[in-house]
Amino acid sequence: MIPAEFDYVRVSSVAEAVQALGEAEDAKLLAGGHSLLPLMKLRLAYPETLVDIGRVEEMRGIRTEGDRLVIGAAVTHHQVAHDETVAQACGAIAHVTKTIGDPQVRHRGTHGGALAHGDAAGDLPATALALGAEFTIEGPSGRRTVPASEFFVDYLITAVGEDEVLVEVSWPLLAAGTRWNYQKFTRVKQDWAIVGALAVITGNGSIDQARIGLTHMGTVPVRPTGVEEALSGVAADDAGAIAAACESAAEGTSPPDDLNADAAFRAHLARVLTRRAVTSALA
Ligand code: FAD
Repeated sequence: MIPAEFDYVRVSSVAEAVQALGEAEDAKLLAGGHSLLPLMKLRLAYPETLVDIGRVEEMRGIRTEGDRLVIGAAVTHHQVAHDETVAQACGAIAHVTKTIGDPQVRHRGTHGGALAHGDAAGDLPATALALGAEFTIEGPSGRRTVPASEFFVDYLITAVGEDEVLVEVSWPLLAAGTRWNYQKFTRVKQDWAIVGALAVITGNGSIDQARIGLTHMGTVPVRPTGVEEALSGVAADDAGAIAAACESAAEGTSPPDDLNADAAFRAHLARVLTRRAVTSALA
């Protein structure tokens, strides 16, 4: 459990971080270190240089900008979970963030680190997909914005290039009357999700639009669009139609088999948790 030797550089701006990534042979950004350091201790990652972005002020703010909520990549989970602007603008993000790990993880781990790491077992990637987040990425050729639908490429691979920095994440403000619920199934409290389901619903009496995000149902977070389409127009109190719509939640997914659950059980959980998330959001 001892990492390979590495150099350490602390930067104070995004430009410095991009420059440091470009100069080193095999560099990785260090944010909260709660995913990277365990990988390094297991020697599954052995970067030659760590570029510490923990004190980059321009990545540590939370603000609203027009109809978007913008969260700096280096903001910790704890800050997101307890920030008044986040609670007002998009309570679902604060709620989901509160379910991440334990207080120690939430005090060190960062919003951008969790998303740039791209672990489909993490709670924020599926949230980003369901809510339609956008990612601001800076590299040697400037800044670009990537929608969540294109951000998660494969297992632990995102649209952030090796010489790029995820600077901030922009989330749509939730329209008045939007209802949401996140169901996270864990083996023990404060653990990773075996499967999670976020439902975000608009409409009174009947469902106008449902957006669903599934955690840990493949190598990337999943949006079961078949369920979303089947829920459109369904009466909020029609439990049978809601249950029928959620039956296809696992279609097209490729959930992993591991010590906690096999793929068939995860598929079952996806159906049950999606139904519970939709029903609880509407309740
Ligand atoms: P780091 O570990 O520092 O970095 C992770 C990766 O992202 C590295 O490759 C790094 O180079 C890259 N990176 C970091 N920041 C940026 C950036 N701004 N731009 C580009 N690349 C960047 N997560 C959950 O979602 N749910 C849980 O229940 C949960 N439980 C946990 C329990 C434990 C015991 C632990 C140790 C972790 C848990 N996590 C969980 C993970 C936690 O959320 C991590 O904080 C998160 O995955 C990584 O964030 P970090 O800031 O620590 O990133």
